Amino acid sequence: MKNSELFQRAKSLMPGGVSSPVRAFKAVGGEPILVARAQGSRLWDVEGKEYIDFLMSWGPLILGHAHPAVVSAVSEQAQKGLSYGLTNIHEITLAELVVSSMPSVEMVRFVSSGTEATMSAIRLARGYTGRRYVVKFDGCYHGHGDALLVSAGSGVATLGIPGTPGVPEEVARLTLVVPYNDVEALEEVFRRYGEEIACVIVEPVAGNMGVVLPKEGFLEAIRDITRSYGALVICDEVITNFRLSKGGAQELFDRDPDITCMGKIIGGGMPLGAYGGRREVMEKVAPEGPVYQAGTLSGNPLSMVAGIATLRELFRLNPYEELERLTKKLTSGIGEVLSRKGIAHRINQIASMFTIFFTEKEVYDYQTAKSSDRELFGRFFRLLLKEGVLIPPAQFEAWFLSTAHTEEDIDLALERIERAVASL
Ligand SMILES: *Cc1c(COP(=O)(O)O)cnc(C)c1O
Repeated sequence: MKNSELFQRAKSLMPGGVSSPVRAFKAVGGEPILVARAQGSRLWDVEGKEYIDFLMSWGPLILGHAHPAVVSAVSEQAQKGLSYGLTNIHEITLAELVVSSMPSVEMVRFVSSGTEATMSAIRLARGYTGRRYVVKFDGCYHGHGDALLVSAGSGVATLGIPGTPGVPEEVARLTLVVPYNDVEALEEVFRRYGEEIACVIVEPVAGNMGVVLPKEGFLEAIRDITRSYGALVICDEVITNFRLSKGGAQELFDRDPDITCMGKIIGGGMPLGAYGGRREVMEKVAPEGPVYQAGTLSGNPLSMVAGIATLRELFRLNPYEELERLTKKLTSGIGEVLSRKGIAHRINQIASMFTIFFTEKEVYDYQTAKSSDRELFGRFFRLLLKEGVLIPPAQFEAWFLSTAHTEEDIDLALERIERAVASL
């Protein structure tokens, strides 16, 4: 089977031939690959070509593809039913794992995606405070909910889509956008709208304008300002939960948000999201409180057991130091290769995620992220793909390592990257 023939068929049946925009490779040029299977750190396309995978399904697969513990948990559960529409015991187990690893989360509600988690968290913040406005940061992506598509990162940024067609202006107007890492701008917005702001939603480490770290004092300032105006902080940890540490970014940066959004790793590759927080806030969620939110497949037993197996294995391995060591080996290797070739670049890295920006500027917000040479990134991507290294097909995304990546994988990837860069 040929990638290109299948993709033509896909295009006649599905918009762009895909179920999610960036998969069409539009931002990097060239035809997308279609996947046949994946195992560990490797992925194979329908033509049988093998890739070392640093896309890792955009973050969920911290144990690598098809980890035996996750696969056997899912297949065992499948024998017992795929969905019940009633509470199952695995929800309790996963809720306990989440609550015990994130001190700011006392109660949790499971949903089916990160988007659902952030949408529901916003509704909860509005319901709890009785206020309308939401503050988000330029270039942060919180899923595709109407209120959050304004100045969004990820695929919205990559494709240069203005972000809001289909979102009524009346809705968009309730979202106030501030540059990431800009405390003064945040204070200014609160001076103008403070009494009407329900919440500030933030990626504690941004992953969707590429990896951008919070400057010292930025997350603290969000906490202080919201507190003094009676607004809530929503920490969107959909990428960072269980990625940066067992307790996510909030553990690393010693933060205490009101509501936390989870996704990706928590489902171990199955569709799963969650939002949780202080008991007093979460008790406003139906049926305990008046803020409605529901889901036919919520708490799905397959997603639950995949999440449980993933978290248990993660906590047993405690691989964070080793993951960071391998990641740094990769980033410093890539840095050397690019420097030798005289290519200006910045690598923003934390734990096992990073982004290479082709720019001389320090990247600390969406404006500086956009200074990256995206045409060069496109060529870099295509050359890597040809060499058998799969990375996110978009500049404003993160590469991910997993526990399945070995020292040999990194050495081999560096060899291939060096060859690719030679013809850049
Ligand atoms: C991926 C992501 C989302 C959206 O999650 P989906 O499961 O794709 O809906 C939300 N917030 C952040 C920070 C993300 O990285």
